[in-house]
Amino acid sequence: MKIPFSPPHIDDKIIDEVVETLRSGWITTGPRTKLFEQRLAEYCGCKRVVCLNSATAGLEIALRWFGVGTGDEVILPAYTYTATASAVIHCGARPVMVDVNDDFLLSAENVRKVVTPRTKVIIPVDFAGLPCDYDSLYEIVNDPGIRELFVPASEVQEQLGRILILSDAAHSLGATYNGMKTGAIADMTVFSFHAVKNLTTAEGGAVCINLPGDFDCDEVYRQLCVGSLHGQSKDALAKTQAGAWRYDVTFPGYKCNMTDIAAAMGLVELERYDSLILPRRKEIFDRYGRAFEKDQRFLIPEYETENKRSSYHVFALRIKDADEITRDRAIQMMAEKGIATNVHFIPLPMLSAYRNLGYNIEDFPNAYRLFSGEISLPVYFTLGDEQVDAVIRELKNSVIAP
Ligand SMILES: *Cc1c(COP(=O)(O)O)cnc(C)c1O
Repeated sequence: MKIPFSPPHIDDKIIDEVVETLRSGWITTGPRTKLFEQRLAEYCGCKRVVCLNSATAGLEIALRWFGVGTGDEVILPAYTYTATASAVIHCGARPVMVDVNDDFLLSAENVRKVVTPRTKVIIPVDFAGLPCDYDSLYEIVNDPGIRELFVPASEVQEQLGRILILSDAAHSLGATYNGMKTGAIADMTVFSFHAVKNLTTAEGGAVCINLPGDFDCDEVYRQLCVGSLHGQSKDALAKTQAGAWRYDVTFPGYKCNMTDIAAAMGLVELERYDSLILPRRKEIFDRYGRAFEKDQRFLIPEYETENKRSSYHVFALRIKDADEITRDRAIQMMAEKGIATNVHFIPLPMLSAYRNLGYNIEDFPNAYRLFSGEISLPVYFTLGDEQVDAVIRELKNSVIAP
């Protein structure tokens, strides 16, 4: 028996679309990318979407657009992937890490404690696919006292007049919060289409623009597109118009646009995302949930609450009261049976890069406690019920009673 953790779902439909794109004569950013952007915006119910080559690029493009730089602070959870924090560091700003709640999500209470006049952005992370508590976060950034602390240092910061909420929704495409889909909840939202994510384009990402009232989201869309293509005034498609060769570069921009080959994959995946992909992922979550919830040795993750529904990205099971050694032993025993499991994530303060910057895991006790017992189980579209049952059986055999 061999059960991988999260293989990409590549079928003939995707292969045919990619081949058609290759034969179409247009392989880089073009009609398919623009269509994928429109479809994503319709899907999420947000104003505009820019597709890029990764979520990491999306985070950085969004932070740069807001004018985040040296001396600024960006609040984010200690329990996330490195990309959330490295994008902040690339901009010259400082990640201010806070501890998480038992649902692995950013604690709004802890966020409030670390807001300073240097705070420019909060990056909540919809860990495992479950949206964060956005109402509480908006309460914080709209709090008159906290608005007063905010020191605008760019035109758009002046216009917003408060801390920006930039959601890291790398896991949560299709999840809902108060009936709204991710992408339409925060000011800006970043999705990832990396190979292991729910919807993949091999590598890819998107920024949803959902800025309030007086922002011209079409103009922001244009600015982000230009920012992702060298700061050049015309993209390759616009330059193919006869005689339209002349261009300008308005600032030294990035190069992180999405190709039409990637967008072709995304279009196929998005079309069947709600009808096929999410329902199957939910079935797998429910099957794991039923198997582990009555077993005293385990704690199942929250994935549906009164006002939230997950995108069922990571089944973040916890072995009750387990230390790292017990958890690692279970992973090893599963591996010996041919079953791949994973750990999401090693909290950032435990990684050398962040330890060397002075972050200390002892300041994030909840993150450490959650991490120690966490074991992520295989979830993917083609995973059958018998395989799910095999994972359940082998894991139950690999964990000793507490
Ligand atoms: C995967 C992931 C990212 C990075 O996505 P890329 O598209 O690979 O840049 C960012 N944040 C989280 C939480 C992720 O899991």
